[in-house]
Amino acid sequence: MSATPHSVVIGAGIIGLSCARALLREGHAVTVIDRDPAGDKASFGNAGGLGITEILPASSPGLIWQIPKWLADPLGPLSLRPAHLPSLMPWLVRFLRTGTKAEVARIASVMAGLLAPVYDDMLPLLAELGLSRDLHRVGALWIYDTEAGFERDAPAHALRRRHGIEVETISAAEARRLEPALAPTSARAVVTPQWSHLSDPKRIVDRLREALMAGGVVMRMLDATAIDGQAVVTAQGERIAFDHLIVATGAWSGRIARLIGDPVLIESERGYNATLPSPGVTLSREVIFAQRQFVATPLEIGLRIGGAAEFAGLDAKPDYRRSDALVTLARRYLPGLDTRGAVRWMGNRPTTPDSLPVIGRSPRRRDVVYAFGHGHVGLTLGPTTGRLVADIVTGRTAPVDLSPFSIARFA
Ligand SMILES: Cc1cc2nc3c(=O)[nH]c(=O)nc-3n(C[C@H](O)[C@H](O)[C@H](O)COP(=O)(O)OP(=O)(O)OC[C@H]3O[C@@H](n4cnc5c(N)ncnc54)[C@H](O)[C@@H]3O)c2cc1C
Repeated sequence: MSATPHSVVIGAGIIGLSCARALLREGHAVTVIDRDPAGDKASFGNAGGLGITEILPASSPGLIWQIPKWLADPLGPLSLRPAHLPSLMPWLVRFLRTGTKAEVARIASVMAGLLAPVYDDMLPLLAELGLSRDLHRVGALWIYDTEAGFERDAPAHALRRRHGIEVETISAAEARRLEPALAPTSARAVVTPQWSHLSDPKRIVDRLREALMAGGVVMRMLDATAIDGQAVVTAQGERIAFDHLIVATGAWSGRIARLIGDPVLIESERGYNATLPSPGVTLSREVIFAQRQFVATPLEIGLRIGGAAEFAGLDAKPDYRRSDALVTLARRYLPGLDTRGAVRWMGNRPTTPDSLPVIGRSPRRRDVVYAFGHGHVGLTLGPTTGRLVADIVTGRTAPVDLSPFSIARFA
Protein backbone atom coordinates (compact mmCIF):
# COMPACT_ATOMS: atom_id res chain seq x y z
CA MET A 1 0.00 0.00 0.00
CA SER A 2 1.32 3.47 -0.88
CA ALA A 3 2.06 6.06 1.86
CA THR A 4 -1.18 7.88 1.11
CA PRO A 5 -3.88 5.23 0.76
CA HIS A 6 -6.06 5.56 -2.31
CA SER A 7 -9.75 4.96 -1.71
CA VAL A 8 -12.03 4.52 -4.69
CA VAL A 9 -15.74 5.02 -4.11
CA ILE A 10 -18.18 3.73 -6.72
CA GLY A 11 -21.37 5.81 -6.56
CA ALA A 12 -21.85 9.57 -6.20
CA GLY A 13 -25.17 9.56 -4.37
CA ILE A 14 -25.47 10.83 -0.81
CA ILE A 15 -23.93 7.62 0.55
CA GLY A 16 -20.91 7.51 -1.76
CA LEU A 17 -20.22 11.23 -1.38
CA SER A 18 -20.50 10.97 2.42
CA CYS A 19 -17.99 8.09 2.39
CA ALA A 20 -15.66 10.12 0.15
CA ARG A 21 -15.83 13.05 2.58
CA ALA A 22 -15.09 10.88 5.61
CA LEU A 23 -12.11 9.21 3.89
CA LEU A 24 -10.74 12.54 2.68
CA ARG A 25 -10.77 13.68 6.30
CA GLU A 26 -8.72 10.58 7.16
CA GLY A 27 -6.03 11.80 4.77
CA HIS A 28 -6.80 9.39 1.95
CA ALA A 29 -6.52 10.22 -1.71
CA VAL A 30 -10.08 9.69 -2.93
CA THR A 31 -11.53 9.01 -6.37
CA VAL A 32 -15.28 8.81 -6.90
CA ILE A 33 -16.54 6.92 -9.94
CA ASP A 34 -20.09 7.36 -11.21
CA ARG A 35 -21.50 6.86 -14.67
CA ASP A 36 -23.36 10.14 -14.13
CA PRO A 37 -21.95 11.96 -11.07
CA ALA A 38 -24.24 15.00 -11.30
CA GLY A 39 -27.21 13.11 -12.73
CA ASP A 40 -30.58 12.07 -11.50
CA LYS A 41 -30.57 9.45 -8.73
CA ALA A 42 -32.40 8.52 -5.56
CA SER A 43 -30.39 11.06 -3.59
CA PHE A 44 -31.56 13.98 -5.74
CA GLY A 45 -35.31 13.67 -5.86
CA ASN A 46 -36.31 12.13 -2.54
CA ALA A 47 -38.76 13.59 -0.03
CA GLY A 48 -36.05 15.43 1.91
CA GLY A 49 -37.07 14.08 5.32
CA LEU A 50 -34.67 13.19 8.13
CA GLY A 51 -36.70 10.26 9.31
CA ILE A 52 -35.02 9.33 12.54
CA THR A 53 -38.27 7.72 13.71
CA GLU A 54 -38.02 5.12 10.93
CA ILE A 55 -36.65 2.28 12.99
CA LEU A 56 -39.20 -0.38 12.03
CA PRO A 57 -38.71 -2.68 9.04
CA ALA A 58 -41.19 -2.42 6.16
CA SER A 59 -42.25 -6.01 6.76
CA SER A 60 -44.53 -6.59 9.73
CA PRO A 61 -46.78 -9.32 11.15
CA GLY A 62 -49.96 -9.65 9.10
CA LEU A 63 -48.72 -7.46 6.25
CA ILE A 64 -49.15 -10.31 3.79
CA TRP A 65 -52.96 -9.98 4.11
CA GLN A 66 -52.83 -6.29 3.09
CA ILE A 67 -50.83 -6.92 -0.08
CA PRO A 68 -53.69 -8.12 -2.38
CA LYS A 69 -55.81 -5.09 -1.39
CA TRP A 70 -52.95 -2.67 -2.09
CA LEU A 71 -52.12 -4.30 -5.42
CA ALA A 72 -55.76 -4.07 -6.54
CA ASP A 73 -56.05 -0.34 -5.71
CA PRO A 74 -54.84 1.94 -8.56
CA LEU A 75 -54.21 4.67 -5.95
CA GLY A 76 -52.64 2.17 -3.55
CA PRO A 77 -49.10 2.30 -2.19
CA LEU A 78 -47.80 -0.89 -3.83
CA SER A 79 -47.42 -2.13 -7.38
CA LEU A 80 -45.64 -5.04 -8.92
CA ARG A 81 -44.86 -5.74 -12.57
CA PRO A 82 -45.70 -9.43 -13.17
CA ALA A 83 -42.68 -9.93 -15.46
CA HIS A 84 -40.44 -9.05 -12.52
CA LEU A 85 -42.04 -11.51 -10.08
CA PRO A 86 -39.73 -14.51 -10.74
CA SER A 87 -36.54 -12.53 -10.03
CA LEU A 88 -38.21 -10.81 -7.04
CA MET A 89 -39.18 -14.12 -5.37
CA PRO A 90 -36.07 -14.73 -3.20
CA TRP A 91 -36.21 -11.14 -1.93
CA LEU A 92 -39.95 -11.40 -1.31
CA VAL A 93 -39.67 -14.64 0.64
CA ARG A 94 -36.99 -13.13 2.89
CA PHE A 95 -39.09 -9.94 3.22
CA LEU A 96 -42.13 -11.89 4.42
CA ARG A 97 -39.98 -13.93 6.81
CA THR A 98 -38.82 -10.67 8.39
CA GLY A 99 -42.40 -9.89 9.44
CA THR A 100 -42.36 -11.65 12.80
CA LYS A 101 -42.69 -9.88 16.14
CA ALA A 102 -39.21 -10.97 17.19
CA GLU A 103 -37.53 -9.82 13.97
CA VAL A 104 -39.35 -6.49 14.00
CA ALA A 105 -38.20 -5.90 17.61
CA ARG A 106 -34.61 -6.88 16.78
CA ILE A 107 -34.44 -4.68 13.68
CA ALA A 108 -36.05 -1.73 15.49
CA SER A 109 -33.40 -1.94 18.17
CA VAL A 110 -30.57 -2.13 15.61
CA MET A 111 -31.96 0.78 13.57
CA ALA A 112 -32.56 2.90 16.67
CA GLY A 113 -28.82 2.59 17.44
CA LEU A 114 -27.85 3.48 13.88
CA LEU A 115 -30.20 6.46 13.65
CA ALA A 116 -29.47 7.90 17.11
CA PRO A 117 -26.44 10.04 16.06
CA VAL A 118 -27.97 11.33 12.80
CA TYR A 119 -28.03 14.98 13.89
CA ASP A 120 -24.51 14.76 15.37
CA ASP A 121 -23.30 13.76 11.91
CA MET A 122 -25.67 15.86 9.78
CA LEU A 123 -25.30 19.24 11.52
CA PRO A 124 -21.51 19.60 10.97
CA LEU A 125 -21.92 18.59 7.32
CA LEU A 126 -24.64 21.17 6.73
CA ALA A 127 -22.55 23.84 8.50
CA GLU A 128 -19.50 22.95 6.38
CA LEU A 129 -21.57 23.29 3.20
CA GLY A 130 -23.16 26.58 4.31
CA LEU A 131 -26.56 24.86 4.42
CA SER A 132 -27.46 25.04 8.12
CA ARG A 133 -30.53 27.07 7.27
CA ASP A 134 -31.73 24.31 4.95
CA LEU A 135 -32.56 22.12 7.93
CA HIS A 136 -36.08 22.62 9.32
CA ARG A 137 -36.38 20.97 12.73
CA VAL A 138 -40.14 21.32 12.91
CA GLY A 139 -41.18 17.67 13.36
CA ALA A 140 -43.61 15.68 11.24
CA LEU A 141 -47.37 15.27 11.44
CA TRP A 142 -48.88 11.81 10.83
CA ILE A 143 -52.49 11.76 9.69
CA TYR A 144 -54.82 8.80 10.28
CA ASP A 145 -58.09 8.55 8.33
CA THR A 146 -59.76 6.19 10.79
CA GLU A 147 -59.52 5.12 14.43
CA ALA A 148 -58.86 1.57 13.20
CA GLY A 149 -55.87 2.75 11.17
CA PHE A 150 -54.52 4.61 14.17
CA GLU A 151 -54.94 1.52 16.35
CA ARG A 152 -53.13 -0.63 13.77
CA ASP A 153 -50.08 1.63 14.05
CA ALA A 154 -50.22 1.82 17.87
CA PRO A 155 -47.76 -1.07 18.48
CA ALA A 156 -45.26 0.52 16.07
CA HIS A 157 -45.49 3.86 17.88
CA ALA A 158 -45.15 2.08 21.22
CA LEU A 159 -41.95 0.43 19.98
CA ARG A 160 -40.64 3.82 18.84
CA ARG A 161 -41.34 5.27 22.28
CA ARG A 162 -39.47 2.38 23.91
CA HIS A 163 -36.43 3.47 21.90
CA GLY A 164 -36.66 7.07 23.05
CA ILE A 165 -38.49 8.46 20.03
CA GLU A 166 -41.06 11.09 20.95
CA VAL A 167 -44.52 10.29 19.59
CA GLU A 168 -47.33 12.59 20.68
CA THR A 169 -50.94 11.65 19.95
CA ILE A 170 -53.16 14.60 19.13
CA SER A 171 -56.76 15.03 18.01
CA ALA A 172 -57.81 15.71 14.43
CA ALA A 173 -58.82 19.24 15.46
CA GLU A 174 -55.34 19.89 16.88
CA ALA A 175 -53.81 18.57 13.67
CA ARG A 176 -55.84 21.09 11.69
CA ARG A 177 -54.75 23.87 14.00
CA LEU A 178 -51.14 22.90 13.19
CA GLU A 179 -51.84 22.60 9.46
CA PRO A 180 -54.97 24.57 8.49
CA ALA A 181 -54.66 23.46 4.84
CA LEU A 182 -55.76 19.92 5.79
CA ALA A 183 -59.32 18.82 4.98
CA PRO A 184 -61.45 17.81 7.97
CA THR A 185 -61.27 14.14 6.98
CA SER A 186 -58.86 12.65 9.50
CA ALA A 187 -59.75 10.81 12.69
CA ARG A 188 -56.50 11.08 14.61
CA ALA A 189 -52.99 12.41 14.29
CA VAL A 190 -49.54 11.97 15.73
CA VAL A 191 -46.62 14.38 16.00
CA THR A 192 -42.99 13.20 15.92
CA PRO A 193 -41.02 16.30 16.97
CA GLN A 194 -37.53 14.87 16.26
CA TRP A 195 -38.27 14.57 12.54
CA SER A 196 -36.99 17.33 10.27
CA HIS A 197 -36.70 18.08 6.60
CA LEU A 198 -34.31 19.83 4.25
CA SER A 199 -35.15 22.69 1.90
CA ASP A 200 -34.04 20.65 -1.12
CA PRO A 201 -32.34 17.24 -1.06
CA LYS A 202 -30.65 17.91 -4.41
CA ARG A 203 -28.82 20.93 -3.02
CA ILE A 204 -27.00 18.96 -0.32
CA VAL A 205 -25.74 16.42 -2.87
CA ASP A 206 -24.71 19.11 -5.37
CA ARG A 207 -22.91 21.18 -2.72
CA LEU A 208 -21.20 18.13 -1.23
CA ARG A 209 -19.96 16.97 -4.63
CA GLU A 210 -18.62 20.45 -5.43
CA ALA A 211 -16.98 20.79 -1.98
CA LEU A 212 -15.30 17.40 -2.34
CA MET A 213 -13.91 18.29 -5.76
CA ALA A 214 -12.62 21.61 -4.39
CA GLY A 215 -11.02 19.63 -1.55
CA GLY A 216 -9.10 17.34 -3.90
CA VAL A 217 -11.46 14.41 -4.54
CA VAL A 218 -11.19 13.21 -8.14
CA MET A 219 -14.64 12.77 -9.66
CA ARG A 220 -14.73 10.50 -12.73
CA MET A 221 -17.66 9.91 -15.07
CA LEU A 222 -17.15 6.18 -15.59
CA ASP A 223 -19.26 3.03 -15.52
CA ALA A 224 -17.73 0.31 -13.33
CA THR A 225 -18.12 -3.06 -15.02
CA ALA A 226 -15.61 -5.37 -13.32
CA ILE A 227 -13.20 -5.65 -10.43
CA ASP A 228 -9.84 -7.09 -11.49
CA GLY A 229 -7.42 -7.56 -8.61
CA GLN A 230 -7.02 -4.15 -7.02
CA ALA A 231 -8.49 -2.18 -9.89
CA VAL A 232 -11.95 -1.16 -11.01
CA VAL A 233 -12.41 -1.84 -14.72
CA THR A 234 -14.75 0.52 -16.52
CA ALA A 235 -16.89 0.37 -19.64
CA GLN A 236 -14.74 3.21 -20.98
CA GLY A 237 -11.68 0.91 -20.91
CA GLU A 238 -9.93 2.43 -17.91
CA ARG A 239 -8.48 0.65 -14.88
CA ILE A 240 -8.67 2.62 -11.63
CA ALA A 241 -6.33 1.14 -9.02
CA PHE A 242 -7.35 1.23 -5.36
CA ASP A 243 -6.07 0.37 -1.89
CA HIS A 244 -9.64 0.46 -0.55
CA LEU A 245 -12.81 0.10 -2.59
CA ILE A 246 -16.13 1.42 -1.30
CA VAL A 247 -19.24 0.10 -3.05
CA ALA A 248 -21.96 2.74 -2.70
CA THR A 249 -23.96 2.09 -5.82
CA GLY A 250 -27.44 2.26 -4.27
CA ALA A 251 -30.01 -0.01 -5.88
CA TRP A 252 -27.40 -1.24 -8.41
CA SER A 253 -25.11 -2.61 -5.69
CA GLY A 254 -26.19 -6.24 -6.18
CA ARG A 255 -24.45 -6.17 -9.57
CA ILE A 256 -21.12 -5.04 -8.06
CA ALA A 257 -21.38 -7.38 -5.05
CA ARG A 258 -21.89 -10.28 -7.46
CA LEU A 259 -18.69 -9.31 -9.30
CA ILE A 260 -16.88 -9.61 -5.98
CA GLY A 261 -18.61 -12.91 -5.19
CA ASP A 262 -20.83 -11.76 -2.31
CA PRO A 263 -24.49 -12.77 -2.61
CA VAL A 264 -26.98 -10.13 -1.52
CA LEU A 265 -30.72 -9.52 -1.74
CA ILE A 266 -31.34 -5.95 -2.83
CA GLU A 267 -34.20 -4.57 -4.89
CA SER A 268 -35.03 -1.27 -6.45
CA GLU A 269 -38.12 -0.18 -4.52
CA ARG A 270 -39.11 2.44 -7.01
CA GLY A 271 -40.69 5.53 -5.49
CA TYR A 272 -42.52 8.33 -7.24
CA ASN A 273 -43.30 11.92 -6.54
CA ALA A 274 -44.64 15.13 -8.01
CA THR A 275 -43.31 18.53 -7.03
CA LEU A 276 -45.87 21.32 -7.27
CA PRO A 277 -44.11 24.66 -7.80
CA SER A 278 -47.09 26.84 -6.71
CA PRO A 279 -49.21 24.46 -4.63
CA GLY A 280 -51.67 27.14 -3.46
CA VAL A 281 -51.62 25.67 0.06
CA THR A 282 -49.08 26.03 2.83
CA LEU A 283 -47.73 23.27 5.04
CA SER A 284 -45.23 24.14 7.71
CA ARG A 285 -43.87 20.62 8.30
CA GLU A 286 -43.71 17.28 6.53
CA VAL A 287 -47.10 15.55 6.64
CA ILE A 288 -47.23 11.76 6.54
CA PHE A 289 -50.53 10.30 5.37
CA ALA A 290 -49.97 7.13 7.33
CA GLN A 291 -52.76 4.92 6.03
CA ARG A 292 -52.23 5.88 2.39
CA GLN A 293 -48.46 5.74 2.80
CA PHE A 294 -47.44 8.94 1.11
CA VAL A 295 -45.97 12.22 2.32
CA ALA A 296 -46.10 15.90 1.49
CA THR A 297 -42.93 17.89 2.16
CA PRO A 298 -42.82 21.70 1.91
CA LEU A 299 -39.54 22.12 0.00
CA GLU A 300 -38.13 25.42 -1.18
CA ILE A 301 -38.82 24.37 -4.78
CA GLY A 302 -42.46 23.51 -4.10
CA LEU A 303 -44.64 21.01 -2.31
CA ARG A 304 -43.35 17.50 -2.97
CA ILE A 305 -45.98 14.75 -2.86
CA GLY A 306 -44.18 11.42 -2.76
CA GLY A 307 -44.36 7.77 -1.87
CA ALA A 308 -45.33 4.46 -3.52
CA ALA A 309 -43.38 1.25 -3.77
CA GLU A 310 -43.13 -0.28 -7.21
CA PHE A 311 -41.20 -3.47 -7.86
CA ALA A 312 -40.34 -3.59 -11.54
CA GLY A 313 -36.59 -4.13 -11.60
CA LEU A 314 -33.82 -1.66 -12.34
CA ASP A 315 -34.31 -1.23 -16.04
CA ALA A 316 -38.08 -0.87 -16.54
CA LYS A 317 -39.32 2.51 -17.72
CA PRO A 318 -40.98 4.73 -15.09
CA ASP A 319 -44.76 4.67 -14.97
CA TYR A 320 -45.52 8.29 -14.13
CA ARG A 321 -49.20 7.50 -13.67
CA ARG A 322 -48.06 6.64 -10.14
CA SER A 323 -46.96 10.26 -9.61
CA ASP A 324 -50.37 11.37 -10.90
CA ALA A 325 -52.10 8.92 -8.55
CA LEU A 326 -50.27 10.47 -5.60
CA VAL A 327 -51.40 13.94 -6.63
CA THR A 328 -55.00 12.70 -6.95
CA LEU A 329 -54.78 11.30 -3.43
CA ALA A 330 -53.21 14.45 -2.05
CA ARG A 331 -56.11 16.54 -3.39
CA ARG A 332 -58.45 14.65 -1.03
CA TYR A 333 -56.45 15.80 1.98
CA LEU A 334 -55.41 19.25 0.73
CA PRO A 335 -58.50 20.58 -1.06
CA GLY A 336 -56.96 23.83 -2.29
CA LEU A 337 -54.05 22.08 -3.99
CA ASP A 338 -52.94 23.69 -7.25
CA THR A 339 -51.29 20.96 -9.31
CA ARG A 340 -50.32 23.05 -12.32
CA GLY A 341 -46.73 22.67 -13.45
CA ALA A 342 -46.22 19.45 -11.47
CA VAL A 343 -42.79 17.91 -12.05
CA ARG A 344 -42.99 14.10 -11.95
CA TRP A 345 -40.09 11.92 -10.83
CA MET A 346 -39.15 8.31 -10.11
CA GLY A 347 -36.19 7.12 -8.05
CA ASN A 348 -34.69 3.75 -7.14
CA ARG A 349 -34.68 3.17 -3.39
CA PRO A 350 -32.01 0.58 -2.59
CA THR A 351 -33.99 -1.78 -0.40
CA THR A 352 -33.02 -4.96 1.43
CA PRO A 353 -35.71 -7.41 2.60
CA ASP A 354 -34.93 -6.76 6.27
CA SER A 355 -34.79 -2.95 5.82
CA LEU A 356 -31.24 -2.90 7.26
CA PRO A 357 -28.51 -1.32 5.14
CA VAL A 358 -25.36 -3.20 4.21
CA ILE A 359 -22.41 -1.52 5.91
CA GLY A 360 -19.21 -3.48 6.35
CA ARG A 361 -16.31 -5.32 4.77
CA SER A 362 -16.70 -7.99 2.14
CA PRO A 363 -16.14 -11.36 3.85
CA ARG A 364 -14.03 -12.25 0.77
CA ARG A 365 -11.71 -9.27 0.64
CA ARG A 366 -10.59 -6.88 3.35
CA ASP A 367 -10.03 -4.10 0.84
CA VAL A 368 -13.71 -3.90 -0.17
CA VAL A 369 -16.28 -2.14 2.03
CA TYR A 370 -19.99 -2.05 1.25
CA ALA A 371 -22.25 0.93 1.98
CA PHE A 372 -25.65 0.54 0.36
CA GLY A 373 -29.23 -0.60 0.90
CA HIS A 374 -30.49 2.39 2.92
CA GLY A 375 -34.04 2.09 1.57
CA HIS A 376 -36.25 4.91 2.84
CA VAL A 377 -33.58 6.57 5.00
CA GLY A 378 -30.52 7.04 2.77
CA LEU A 379 -30.59 10.83 2.95
CA THR A 380 -31.01 10.63 6.72
CA LEU A 381 -28.11 8.20 7.16
CA GLY A 382 -25.61 9.55 4.61
CA PRO A 383 -23.15 11.33 6.93
CA THR A 384 -23.51 8.65 9.65
CA THR A 385 -22.71 5.92 7.13
CA GLY A 386 -19.68 7.87 5.89
CA ARG A 387 -18.31 8.06 9.44
CA LEU A 388 -18.84 4.32 9.99
CA VAL A 389 -17.15 3.46 6.70
CA ALA A 390 -14.12 5.54 7.73
CA ASP A 391 -14.02 3.59 11.01
CA ILE A 392 -14.07 0.30 9.11
CA VAL A 393 -11.41 1.34 6.59
CA THR A 394 -9.04 2.70 9.23
CA GLY A 395 -9.60 -0.27 11.55
CA ARG A 396 -11.13 1.78 14.39
CA THR A 397 -13.81 0.16 16.50
CA ALA A 398 -17.15 1.57 15.39
CA PRO A 399 -19.39 2.98 18.13
CA VAL A 400 -22.22 0.62 17.13
CA ASP A 401 -22.19 -3.13 16.60
CA LEU A 402 -21.92 -3.48 12.83
CA SER A 403 -22.58 -7.22 12.64
CA PRO A 404 -26.34 -6.85 11.83
CA PHE A 405 -25.36 -4.84 8.73
CA SER A 406 -22.92 -7.39 7.33
CA ILE A 407 -23.48 -8.66 3.79
CA ALA A 408 -22.72 -12.12 5.22
CA ARG A 409 -26.36 -12.33 6.37
CA PHE A 410 -27.27 -13.12 2.75
CA ALA A 411 -24.70 -15.88 2.28
C1 LIG B 1 -39.57 8.68 -3.65
C2 LIG B 1 -38.44 8.56 -2.66
C3 LIG B 1 -38.52 9.28 -1.47
C4 LIG B 1 -37.50 9.18 -0.51
N1 LIG B 1 -37.55 9.95 0.61
C5 LIG B 1 -36.53 9.91 1.51
C6 LIG B 1 -36.54 10.75 2.66
O1 LIG B 1 -37.43 11.56 2.84
N2 LIG B 1 -35.51 10.65 3.53
C7 LIG B 1 -34.48 9.76 3.35
O2 LIG B 1 -33.60 9.68 4.21
N3 LIG B 1 -34.43 8.97 2.25
C8 LIG B 1 -35.43 9.01 1.34
N4 LIG B 1 -35.40 8.22 0.24
C9 LIG B 1 -34.32 7.24 0.11
C10 LIG B 1 -33.01 7.86 -0.35
O3 LIG B 1 -33.24 8.73 -1.44
C11 LIG B 1 -32.05 6.74 -0.74
O4 LIG B 1 -31.95 5.78 0.29
C12 LIG B 1 -30.65 7.32 -1.00
O5 LIG B 1 -30.73 8.40 -1.89
C13 LIG B 1 -29.73 6.26 -1.54
O6 LIG B 1 -28.50 6.87 -1.79
P1 LIG B 1 -27.33 6.10 -2.50
O7 LIG B 1 -26.17 7.02 -2.55
O8 LIG B 1 -27.16 4.77 -1.84
O9 LIG B 1 -27.90 5.77 -3.96
P2 LIG B 1 -28.08 6.72 -5.26
O10 LIG B 1 -28.42 8.11 -4.88
O11 LIG B 1 -29.03 6.01 -6.16
O12 LIG B 1 -26.64 6.74 -5.91
C14 LIG B 1 -26.06 5.55 -6.44
C15 LIG B 1 -25.13 5.99 -7.55
O13 LIG B 1 -24.39 4.85 -8.00
C16 LIG B 1 -24.17 5.03 -9.38
N5 LIG B 1 -23.82 3.73 -9.96
C17 LIG B 1 -24.54 2.58 -9.84
N6 LIG B 1 -23.90 1.57 -10.46
C18 LIG B 1 -22.77 2.10 -11.00
C19 LIG B 1 -21.70 1.56 -11.77
N7 LIG B 1 -21.65 0.26 -12.09
N8 LIG B 1 -20.70 2.39 -12.15
C20 LIG B 1 -20.73 3.71 -11.83
N9 LIG B 1 -21.72 4.27 -11.10
C21 LIG B 1 -22.72 3.48 -10.70
C22 LIG B 1 -25.48 5.61 -9.91
O14 LIG B 1 -25.26 6.30 -11.13
C23 LIG B 1 -25.86 6.56 -8.76
O15 LIG B 1 -25.39 7.86 -9.01
C24 LIG B 1 -36.39 8.31 -0.75
C25 LIG B 1 -36.30 7.63 -1.96
C26 LIG B 1 -37.31 7.74 -2.92
C27 LIG B 1 -37.16 7.01 -4.22
